[in-house]
Amino acid sequence: MPSNGLSSSCQQFFKDLLPLQQYNSWIKPLVFEVVGNRLILTAPNSFTLRIIQERFLSEITKRAIPFFQTSPEVELRIEKHPTQKQTQKSIPNSTLKESPAPVAVKAPKITNKLNSQLTFETFVTGKANQLAHAAGLQVAETPGMTYNPLFIYGGVGLGKTHLLQSIGNLVAKENPQAKISYIHATNYVSGVVKAFQTKSFDEFKQHYNSLDLLLIDDIQFIADKPGTQQEFFYTLNSLIDTHKQVVITCDTFPKEITGIEPRLTSRFTCGLTVAIEPPGLEMRVAILLQKSANNSTPITEDVAFFIAKHVRSNIRELEGALNRIEAYARFHKRSITIDLAKEALRDLLAAQNKQVTIENIQKTVADFYRLKMVDLLSKKRTRVIARPRQIAMSLARELTQLSLPEIGNAFGGRDHTTVLHACKTIELLRNSDNVIEADFNLLHQTLRG
Ligand code: ADP
Ligand code: MG
Repeated sequence: MPSNGLSSSCQQFFKDLLPLQQYNSWIKPLVFEVVGNRLILTAPNSFTLRIIQERFLSEITKRAIPFFQTSPEVELRIEKHPTQKQTQKSIPNSTLKESPAPVAVKAPKITNKLNSQLTFETFVTGKANQLAHAAGLQVAETPGMTYNPLFIYGGVGLGKTHLLQSIGNLVAKENPQAKISYIHATNYVSGVVKAFQTKSFDEFKQHYNSLDLLLIDDIQFIADKPGTQQEFFYTLNSLIDTHKQVVITCDTFPKEITGIEPRLTSRFTCGLTVAIEPPGLEMRVAILLQKSANNSTPITEDVAFFIAKHVRSNIRELEGALNRIEAYARFHKRSITIDLAKEALRDLLAAQNKQVTIENIQKTVADFYRLKMVDLLSKKRTRVIARPRQIAMSLARELTQLSLPEIGNAFGGRDHTTVLHACKTIELLRNSDNVIEADFNLLHQTLRG
């Protein structure tokens, strides 16, 4: 397994957490290496090593769990002296050669395994996801019998993968013989490419056609890949025709995916299509409480409310904020209070205070082009008004967290496709028209302050 991800994630984490000088002294020189299920940490000297062991090791180990899918075995080493360095450098190669299971080489290969942590038990339900949850549960209990395919869509970090994996885990539990494949669409694409390259298409086809349950994640990634789409179309039909369950996730409603053949998108909708919406405040609180319930010191409800009020975008961010607070508390050996949460999230909170509102954008753009607000928001289509309006829309897209329909609404109740069209037009114009490019940049700068 490449250690890059883990190393940079740890480095970044401590960089944010520690005063720069401490970070530079202890963490920066640390070398991360992954060999099989071992994490090897090499420090420049024994003193640093001891500091790492005493102060940082538990946090590093904790952060390594997702990479290893379990607690790794950690080995601490001291960097050899320059003369010995030469020999040490050759060690990784030779150990890799001897090692019977060179995980470092294997990991990037397509893995169709389920993640046993993501189950229905840990999936919190609320208004935002109850339909998707119910449909998922139904499909897992009676695969191939009800909704086929089940198509789940929603924005990032809202639980699509978690739900998809939960379905797989439940089916596997009820029927250990079932042939189940979980695959991310990008891995499916590379699978098709590899099958072409190695002329192993029959094997590839056979693998997918023989499944009892196919879970395919983030299908939007097969857009603009006609070869893959054709292959997937056949697989999908063959599985559905033989009553094998298929569950698909996507970041948008099927008809809105661009770059996917219509025959395929219409096949997506022939079962059941359900959305996962962003969670409301109470659900965000429930999720935080559930996530921290397993910890030695669970957070209190008022801390959960504090976090949930400030982190609204999605569940992944919510988890990130919670982890950050917990790490901060562990590190400073303090208990988790609202004050501590404020300290731990200070960057995030500061960024929020600077956040640009859509009214602000509209007003700034109207002033800049000497237009009246009412005109900017009106239905008038003359170029002198329509162009600034499009600029304002694409600035709103870039500088706020609002969705396309929300932006459309704020501009006199326009359709989200109008907003999308505006963003695309401005993107094109910025590449071809110097004045527009300059205006856009100036407005952008003004708004960001
Ligand atoms: P998506 O695939 O939609 O981008 P994920 O399924 O990866 O989102 O979810 C992001 C994170 O939030 C994961 O760690 C997941 O376990 C967690 N999560 C999402 N939805 C829920 C939920 N309803 N209850 C508990 N945890 C959730
Ligand atoms: Mg996902």
